[in-house]
Amino acid sequence: MLKTFAILICKIAKKLAQKLGRGSSFPGKVALKICPDILSRVSLPANIIAVTGSNGKTSTVEMIYHILVNSGFDVVCNKEGSNQIEGVTTLVLDNCDLRGNFKKDVLLIEVDERYAKYVFSYITPKYYLLNNLYRDQMTRNGHPEYVFEQIKLSIRPDSTLILNADDPLISSLAKLYDNTVVYYGAEENQYVTEKCQSIYNDGYYCPLCKHKMIYDYYQFAHVGKYECSHCDFEREQPDFAITRIDLSQGYMIINDEYRIDLAFRSLHNAYNCLAAFTLGRCMNISEEILVELLNSYVIKNGRIREFAYKDIGGTLLISKHENTVSYNQNLNYITSLKDKIQLVLIIDDISRKYFTSDTSWLWDISFELLNSKNIKKVIVSGKYINDVAVRFNNGDVDMNKVVLKDSVNEALDELDNDPQLRTFVMTCFSDQDKLLKEVEVL
Ligand SMILES: [Zn+2]
Repeated sequence: MLKTFAILICKIAKKLAQKLGRGSSFPGKVALKICPDILSRVSLPANIIAVTGSNGKTSTVEMIYHILVNSGFDVVCNKEGSNQIEGVTTLVLDNCDLRGNFKKDVLLIEVDERYAKYVFSYITPKYYLLNNLYRDQMTRNGHPEYVFEQIKLSIRPDSTLILNADDPLISSLAKLYDNTVVYYGAEENQYVTEKCQSIYNDGYYCPLCKHKMIYDYYQFAHVGKYECSHCDFEREQPDFAITRIDLSQGYMIINDEYRIDLAFRSLHNAYNCLAAFTLGRCMNISEEILVELLNSYVIKNGRIREFAYKDIGGTLLISKHENTVSYNQNLNYITSLKDKIQLVLIIDDISRKYFTSDTSWLWDISFELLNSKNIKKVIVSGKYINDVAVRFNNGDVDMNKVVLKDSVNEALDELDNDPQLRTFVMTCFSDQDKLLKEVEVL
């Protein structure tokens, strides 16, 4: 009875929340108040797929969704990113009948890395994909090592772990548990570096014995080929590997055979595609079909958006504030292009979840990349322009090409209407509306 009541209230609250424009976590919150273990009382499908990690969860989940739906599965997914226990509860109960029977074939969920332990104390994913651990919203989440400790608590013995072999924090989970593991990763390529390119290195010490790690090469941040100088921990050979990649041509080859055209030409996106491919193989979808589906995939999650301002066309690249890797990826991307570029950087509301004025993360981003010859102009806007300027100055960013403007409007008016220039905007989704309301979204 309690179960039925909780499901009913959740469904009613969901309808109400939709009318009131409230988020999707509220109905789940109410249901959990009524029946705290409601998730363990409902009948879920055999195929529960969960994705967690710092960067790329949403993109990966969307690609997996595209693959599964187009392979004939009836899939439910928290695409809006309500990825804590309340949001997952809303999703599950809304798709159950009043007896608690889940009505679809597959439950696909993106889970917050710190809160996964709560979600999986009630439900066990069949496939649990963990992609990476980077510094992300440190004031909220803490250090990746702390997040790693939280993720450990979310591992259930019956889950098959799908792990990024190149991230030592993630792949060390295989040494700590007896779960079945499937690895994915990228082999050495023309983009690897001998030294860690990031200002900090979260792979400096072995996650298992805390001795120094030795890297053959880095793909980016602390992701690469490593081994511990003390214990037997080392990068495992991936089951599914990017054996060739060409970002200027925009493709990658998986396991020497399967060519995927990349919708967005970044190494990080290549890892996300590979993760989705790996999951697809776990679900017994053939390589040929996966290639076809990934090649037809159009990025939809709004992380990249085209817009026009007056006669100037531009591209918004969502770059998460308080997340170095997210900014560095986009900086690497624009500086790798052959085009001449003008860039608008909007840093106004720093935090995505609560108010903070912490700007320390600005010092971790490789803004020196802006010295690249193809970057012709950088327009900085938002509350924190002076903090950014101090950061640029201390990092020897060429200030001759930097313009500071308080408002987004002024920043947009500063753009040159020059057909030779490609225009990019980098900002967080917490700040994106300040741009989007001033431009025509294409
Ligand atoms: Zn070790």
